[in-house]
Amino acid sequence: VPTIGVLALQGDVREHARALEEAGARTVKVRRPDELERVDGLVLPGGESTTMWRLARSFELLEPLRKRIEAGMPAYGSCAGMIMLADRIRGGVAGQETVGGIDMTVRRNAFGRQVDSFEAAVPLTGMGDTPYHAVFIRAPWVESVGDAVEILGRAESGQNAGRIVAVRQGRLMATAFHPELTGDFRVHHYFADLVRRTTEED
Ligand code: GLN
Repeated sequence: VPTIGVLALQGDVREHARALEEAGARTVKVRRPDELERVDGLVLPGGESTTMWRLARSFELLEPLRKRIEAGMPAYGSCAGMIMLADRIRGGVAGQETVGGIDMTVRRNAFGRQVDSFEAAVPLTGMGDTPYHAVFIRAPWVESVGDAVEILGRAESGQNAGRIVAVRQGRLMATAFHPELTGDFRVHHYFADLVRRTTEED
């Protein structure tokens, strides 16, 4: 059974831990570099990316996170976590850094004030035939991706139809929405499988 960490600086940590356990993983909270060393994979939860970045910096986790991701640790970021995994962001606060790893440009709070929060059907590649019922909360979207990035999902309907909201690059994945909130844990299953396969390969 792989051990999957949940970055526990800020955000909806408990919901992700529950979803991962439903998906058959063992979970631990990660706040310190030595805790990061012991996990087979990591979830970066939703929350507020500016706060998460500041806390990661003061807990001296930014560099260790970058190093483990470069070394091939699987990671999955949801919403603010997606922002943290982006190589480039738009609409960040002055000086805002990310961990990076996914060759994409992500725009913060992209869907605009009139739709602070909304739900949409999103078909997800490799996660079954039924579209995912996705919950977006002050969500980012992906503006552009490099060649190595596989698009797993786009918003299907409404004014935001076509927007990229789920991606994968090798062992890294990210969604603009919050699959930990709906009781449909296909995304967590997918990630837990990825971590399991990685521990077998390495
Ligand atoms: N708007 C938040 C940010 O920029 C993300 C929102 C979320 O994670 N639900 O970090």
